Amino acid sequence: MRLLREACESNGILGEGVLIQIQIPEKARRIIDALWEAGYEAYAVGGCVRDAILGREPSDWDITTNAKPEEVKALFPRTVDTGIRHGTVTVLLGGEGFEVTTYRIDGEYEDGRHPKQVAFTPSLLEDLKRRDFTINAMAYNEREGLVDAFGGLRDLERRRIRCVGRPEERFFEDALRILRAVRFAAQLGFSIEEGTKEAVCGFAPRLSRISAERIQAEVVKLLVSDHPEAWRTVYETGITAVILPEFDACMETPQQNPHHCFSVGEHTLRALTEIEPDKVLRLAILFHDIGKPQVRTRDERGIDHFIRHGEVSQEIAGTVLRRLKFDNDTLRRVKHLVGVHDYLQIVPTPRGVRRGVFRIGEEYFPDYLKVRRADILAQNPQVIEEKLKDLKEVERLYRKELEERNCLSLKELAVTGRDLIEAGMPAGPGLGKALNRLLELVIENPQYNTKEYLLEAAFKQA
Ligand code: ATP
Ligand code: MG
Repeated sequence: MRLLREACESNGILGEGVLIQIQIPEKARRIIDALWEAGYEAYAVGGCVRDAILGREPSDWDITTNAKPEEVKALFPRTVDTGIRHGTVTVLLGGEGFEVTTYRIDGEYEDGRHPKQVAFTPSLLEDLKRRDFTINAMAYNEREGLVDAFGGLRDLERRRIRCVGRPEERFFEDALRILRAVRFAAQLGFSIEEGTKEAVCGFAPRLSRISAERIQAEVVKLLVSDHPEAWRTVYETGITAVILPEFDACMETPQQNPHHCFSVGEHTLRALTEIEPDKVLRLAILFHDIGKPQVRTRDERGIDHFIRHGEVSQEIAGTVLRRLKFDNDTLRRVKHLVGVHDYLQIVPTPRGVRRGVFRIGEEYFPDYLKVRRADILAQNPQVIEEKLKDLKEVERLYRKELEERNCLSLKELAVTGRDLIEAGMPAGPGLGKALNRLLELVIENPQYNTKEYLLEAAFKQA
């Protein structure tokens, strides 16, 4: 995305009188041009304008126009009625889709959830006014340049999130904006303007009216952002108290033992920044110790223990992820990683590592290592080095096992169920057990992974 940022910067200020030029991609430009040629107005709007000015790659180019949905459809050969009731038509151009939305005013909001109805308006300004934050309320095209009616450019420059209009009203209309404020702050590394932040705190309880699906989408975007530690703001503003009270308990749970020097919550916040921005990994870290407040015991020497916290955390993760309506695959993977994150000490020997892979599961092992590393890096600085040394050795040995193509799961076992049946073993549950026993044997002694040896061993076992 090329823009005349340098020009803006050399002026010392991004502001009035500075020419902002955005390179709109060819296809989006063709749609905008076609609308103008047909006598309508059309602009790129919202997130793409914000991101282009910041020099970030926009995820999609949304277009806003005074043409009505039917008029948009009449102009382009291939369209999809994506959200026709809200004025959105997707225009398909060479395999790509662009959302074209008619200028609109959102009607009254029902229970702070959805606008009851939307009304179309001939005014671009009215459309921009309904948008959440100033940095999201700018429009651009090559004819008119930047339309920035609410000081969005200045807020981009000052790196702050500020509501369009009165924050209290805007959060009252749609409480999801409360969480979106923190999400954008996390994605862009911005702060939240004072008045807006005050209203975030004041209106956080209204998030209880928002659907789990909408909250989930914002939580994921925040967690996989460049600043997952902004989760602290989610806590400080009282948002977790509404959407994840289990986390508040973590912030209030100290950990007095040699492994730790932070509360459970502080440790979790630190660990979030130590793992790559992947949805499952970040969620696994968010939940890995969430059961600790429930299992904490303090012994006579004043040392805290958290026995079986992996299991309890796994249970809570399942409950919360279901509450937030996460899909089954995410639920399964996060729960598994949370459950195994601390449940066994992997001995840094070839056999110890094979046993670890066997018990944790080959599919999960690489992610387990990442979780483990982030978990260690957020512990007491005095223990990090020692633990990391062991982990590095485990990682090295694991790579070696892969290079040597040693058998680590049933997939790589030299015999299959069919082989055993052909050799005369009856089908049924006993077959699976026999295969697992053979796998255990091979995990202990990789050289036994031959069909000949294992067939013989299978019948000796039986
Ligand atoms: P992303 O990169 O996450 O897509 P975005 O800014 O495009 O960021 P979207 O959720 O796709 O965010 O919304 C597109 C635009 O619609 C926003 O930039 C904003 O102008 C407006 N918008 C979206 N949700 C709301 C809302 N709840 N209230 C007000 N305006 C909103
Ligand atoms: Mg978007």
